[in-house]
Amino acid sequence: MTAWITCKQVVKAYKIDKREVVALRGIDFEMERGEWVTIVGPSGAGKSSLLNLLGGLDKPTAGQLSVDGIDLLNLKGSALVNYRLREVGFLWQQTLRNLLTGRSSLRNVTLPMMLAGTAPWKRAPRAKELLTAVGLADQMYKRPMMLSGGQQQRVAMAVALANQPKLLLADEPTGELDAKSAAGMVTLLQELREKFGLTILMVTHDPEVAAYADRILTLRDGALGQSLTDDRAATPKLDSQGFIQLPEAVRAQLSGAPRVAVEIRPEGVLLRAEADDIADPNFDGALNDAPPEVQRRGLRGLFGRRAAKSKTATQSQNKVAS
Ligand code: ADP
Repeated sequence: MTAWITCKQVVKAYKIDKREVVALRGIDFEMERGEWVTIVGPSGAGKSSLLNLLGGLDKPTAGQLSVDGIDLLNLKGSALVNYRLREVGFLWQQTLRNLLTGRSSLRNVTLPMMLAGTAPWKRAPRAKELLTAVGLADQMYKRPMMLSGGQQQRVAMAVALANQPKLLLADEPTGELDAKSAAGMVTLLQELREKFGLTILMVTHDPEVAAYADRILTLRDGALGQSLTDDRAATPKLDSQGFIQLPEAVRAQLSGAPRVAVEIRPEGVLLRAEADDIADPNFDGALNDAPPEVQRRGLRGLFGRRAAKSKTATQSQNKVAS
């Protein structure tokens, strides 16, 4: 059986003057209908490029890419417009990129339906249903600027789902939200996924947000790395000296940080990338300076529980670094 999303040897190269920047270097992955996959990786790794290709906003330079049997390489004209309008919904980090400030929440949600040619009498009831589903039944007539960041992103979610897409692409959707709104947003995503049978591909830097996915993939220098939910990759070995080899996915999260804070939490040990100038009372030194007992007991406990692998990853299982 073919997967719902197929990405085979996908290459994306951009030309700037005479220089070529290769953003994706032969990406291979598949997703099933209804799956939620999160991609993590450092800035410049190619995450947005991949989302843009899957959203039909850009074309791969080489490779094969299909969603729901639709070949995205050969999609043109009205078929391409139709794909962007109906098959896929977008949620961007900048909430206002998703919304028109001069229109009420309701009229923001009816707009994509208008563009897709939905009958006028169907638009408002569907928009109201969606705004109710995102918890904004009482904010429908307000414009975005009268709403909080979290509420704006909820309206954006309703806009993304206006034409009943099967695929939701979310690029750092909680990047501009405070922790409470971010948690509310991912919980909502979970509910909407169930309610509307969505397939979700999300990019995030936030491990707590990433943890809601069924699978976490890492992208680094345009290449997919080990899955954070792959048992073998996520269960690092501890040698007799107390040294531990972190999985690629964890290294990607910590890359570029001058220091790594080691924090003992009830669920295990948290490794957190830290800027040099931030004084943290919980900082116990770099990873190698942590007492061997901490490394052994905490990291083993943390990765050991993850290796128990459940279909829906829990937050604590994935909470390895932020
Ligand atoms: P990420 O989302 O992981 O930060 P991007 O996909 O935005 O990564 O970028 C990957 C690489 O491709 C970077 O080197 C970036 O500078 C380059 N890039 C992305 N978009 C363009 C573009 N439109 N034109 C030229 N280079 C681009």
